[in-house]
Amino acid sequence: MCGIMGYTGKKNSIPIVINGLKSLEYRGYDSAGIAYIYKNDIKIIKEKGRISNLENELEGDSSNTCIGHTRWATHGEPSRINAHPHKVGNITIVHNGIIENYNELKNKLIKEGYKFKSETDTEVACAIIDYYYKKLNDKIKVIEKLKDVLKGSYAFLILFQGDDKIYATKCGSPMIVASSMNGNFIASDIPAILSYTKEYFLLDEHDIAILDKDFIKFIKDGKEIKKEKLIFQFDTEVASKGGYKHFMLKEIHEEPKVVKDYLDYYFENFDLIPDISKYRKIQIVACGSAYHAGLIGKFLIEKYGSIEVNCYIASEYRYQLNFIDKNTLVILVSQSGETADTIASLRLAKKNKAKTLGIVNVVGSTIARECDSVIYINAGAEIAVATTKAYVNQVLTFSLIAYKLGLKNKLLTEDIKKEYYKLPNEISKMLKLDYHKLALKISKQNNVFFIGRLIDYYLCLEGSLKLKEISYIHSETYPAGELKHGTISLIDSGTIVISIVTDENISEKTVSNIKETKARGAYVILLKRDDIIVDETCYDEIIDIEKMSDLAMAILTIVPLQLLAYYVSDVKGLDIDKPKNLAKSVTVE
Ligand code: GLU
Repeated sequence: MCGIMGYTGKKNSIPIVINGLKSLEYRGYDSAGIAYIYKNDIKIIKEKGRISNLENELEGDSSNTCIGHTRWATHGEPSRINAHPHKVGNITIVHNGIIENYNELKNKLIKEGYKFKSETDTEVACAIIDYYYKKLNDKIKVIEKLKDVLKGSYAFLILFQGDDKIYATKCGSPMIVASSMNGNFIASDIPAILSYTKEYFLLDEHDIAILDKDFIKFIKDGKEIKKEKLIFQFDTEVASKGGYKHFMLKEIHEEPKVVKDYLDYYFENFDLIPDISKYRKIQIVACGSAYHAGLIGKFLIEKYGSIEVNCYIASEYRYQLNFIDKNTLVILVSQSGETADTIASLRLAKKNKAKTLGIVNVVGSTIARECDSVIYINAGAEIAVATTKAYVNQVLTFSLIAYKLGLKNKLLTEDIKKEYYKLPNEISKMLKLDYHKLALKISKQNNVFFIGRLIDYYLCLEGSLKLKEISYIHSETYPAGELKHGTISLIDSGTIVISIVTDENISEKTVSNIKETKARGAYVILLKRDDIIVDETCYDEIIDIEKMSDLAMAILTIVPLQLLAYYVSDVKGLDIDKPKNLAKSVTVE
């Protein structure tokens, strides 16, 4: 969450930081602010709302050193006063994360005479830095002390009064550093620096970075260290919408290519898909859409591998009793590889001696680095907050794991490869359907139901989440047979029920459940595998989906649901790429 950007160098740092923040706006956007060195002092400008609001407040100054922040509020409402940067005494900071012991520290600081203007945990962290700086009078020692004093997660950029360098450290929140001929950059994520360089350094936990106009220094445990330079692999095109109205639409349209490239790469390098047949127990741990991808993984791995698989939501997993040992494989799924709860679950699994496998998109991210092994989903950079192509490649990854098990168990032959290769073309066909009429109808609803069984239910969960995330229309998702145990009472004349039927083994059962909703007046939109015959009275609208192996079917079926959610939100004129209250890369717990 939250975007951080800092620059110090020969150029005017203010537009550089503002542009960097714009490229990070997907991480948080309820308020924004900058602090820059101006006439030997620090000037702070901040504003509620988007970066465009902040831009209106700029005074046309020029400065060589600037830090900036787009906020995703955790402590205190989005407001100008709570926006970052915060300044206390000699210290100005921007912060990504949550300081869990801020209340305790705040009380201590109040006794020391500190006064607070905002409701944020960040201002408390700022005051703590000021407090220790006054005591120790040594910048590095103060920053090193933070790991003993602060509980929670943070990435900080710090300006000390009278010093034009930027100081940074991190714990649990990502931070990258980059250099160019004209100056040095620090940011929460790569898009912020892509227009200057593709080379960057990654800060590890508790590393300190010092950015001067002419040099970058890294310090660990009091000693200067050298860091390996990494190269960003993706294309710089990612930062533009390429003619599409929104990043989300562009990213859905990238799915045929992303899937094709993935298949080419992993079939060429099939050893990179691990054989997990030796494990007797598998746990999949993730959040949000990645969790939904994991549920499909469970279905496919159980079917083709005959191994028990359980899926857990990471924020629960880390606090529940877990019966894991060295014979358990724990699979952690996260687009960013920085999801705080998933990282904590990974560390817990390792502590209990389980083997860990990461399924992540961002190369070199924390989960990728800390897992025993990793499969990169190679979906390319995803900018829209609501995930689409990354979800598709997460499902594809589980599918290939299951395919490998199926080959080993002689349940499948290599012929299935042909099925996978039908996907790009079939996805393209889904992209061409006209969703406007349905979208208009759905956009007028307050509630929608999604029903399906097994893998179709797992797809319903993702379709429903997409709709909720970006259109703000509430939806309930039910295993089709469960609806009558309660919430069928909410189905009335005209209630929209979206149902998925792609598994012929249970299609009749689901169709009976659909009819139960029709009998109560529901307006049914049916997504159906084209060869499954259903009676015409059970739906009002139908989307037929090409028959494929269940290894590929889920990937194809999600596409119309992603597009439906997109067009409903578009009809409502909402900010599709940056839905309210949400942020990508959830680095807080
Ligand atoms: N916890 C801080 C706040 O609420 C930082 C949130 C963020 O990461 O944007 O201001």
